[in-house]
Amino acid sequence: MARDLALIDKADFAHVDVMDNHFVPNLTFGPQMVQRIKATSPIPLDVHLMIANQDRWAPGYAELGAESVTLHVEATTDPVSVAAAIHAIGARVGIALKPGTPFVEIEEIAQHFDQILVMTVEPGFGGQKFMADQMQKVREVAAFRSRTGTEMWIQVDGGVDTHTIELAAEAGADTFVAGSAVFGTDNPSLAVENLRRIAREHSHHEEHHE
Ligand code: ZN
Repeated sequence: MARDLALIDKADFAHVDVMDNHFVPNLTFGPQMVQRIKATSPIPLDVHLMIANQDRWAPGYAELGAESVTLHVEATTDPVSVAAAIHAIGARVGIALKPGTPFVEIEEIAQHFDQILVMTVEPGFGGQKFMADQMQKVREVAAFRSRTGTEMWIQVDGGVDTHTIELAAEAGADTFVAGSAVFGTDNPSLAVENLRRIAREHSHHEEHHE
């Protein structure tokens, strides 16, 4: 773990997928692992919760020192209260949408969040193919951000590589989660810089805010 984290020293965050074999059929990191990463590396942690009953568990990840905690609207009963609890601890908070969940479902509460995560694969496993049809949702969130003048980040997660990051950046995403496209290369540090450069070249973010 320490070795892998050192390889992504050029990344802005380490994205940690927390899965419970319940909300998704896979089991990955839990609180102990987040604590270990925190003790091992200075890189800020972007925790993505893919667990059941997030109302109960989400604030604990902020208490462990995660800089950002993202909830799934599909697994949270009262996302606005959870967001307030996480903010009170001092972390950023995001809200995630599975591919089948439309943006309109969270539009009324979107301003309570620092980040909207548009899933570009079904959550649960790495290495899946990027769902380009989710770019319409990214454009909707970007239009909402523009219209409301909010500073929220728009994140995409799943199947992000040197090609699909162009589509996501053009649609208005500004925060990109890459797994295989980084760790599947000989030089993860270079892969991060390369992805960032491509995203910047294809981003219209500044124009949207002018
Ligand atoms: Zn994730």
